[in-house]
Amino acid sequence: MDCLFCKIANGELPSKMVYEDDLVSVFLDINPHTNGNSLIVPKVHYLDYKEISDELNNHINEVVKKLDKMYQEKLGSSGLTIIHNSGCGQEVKHYHLHFIPRYENTDISLVPNRELEDLETVYQKLMK
Ligand code: AMP
Ligand code: ZN
Repeated sequence: MDCLFCKIANGELPSKMVYEDDLVSVFLDINPHTNGNSLIVPKVHYLDYKEISDELNNHINEVVKKLDKMYQEKLGSSGLTIIHNSGCGQEVKHYHLHFIPRYENTDISLVPNRELEDLETVYQKLMK
């Protein structure tokens, strides 16, 4: 299979790799939202969250904690935002978590949309 993130995570294509263990690689996103915006990527190919085992999920959560500490110490971050896209919105079809370090007084542009159905309509659809 010709998969970009399989190749990067296994060192067959170059990246700015900042962390690696037996199960995952972490490298800098080439389109960062903040300094240190990284992608946590399993070395084995999975499509999205539905294919990730509980064990791997737990491991990834431990990696998130390590990165948070490392980026706080080395980059001065003081929080984080995590995003996972699945289905539409997912450009690279190999599971990855967007690890976005957050800094005091900086924002990222996830802007609420004011032109949606009202909350009650959406709520009724979900509860039906
Ligand atoms: P998504 O839309 O969730 O699949 O996100 C894919 C992410 O991969 C985007 O944030 C891209 O900027 C990033 N990306 C694509 N190609 C590369 C690459 N060669 N090295 C690092 N990041 C990449
Ligand atoms: Zn892959």
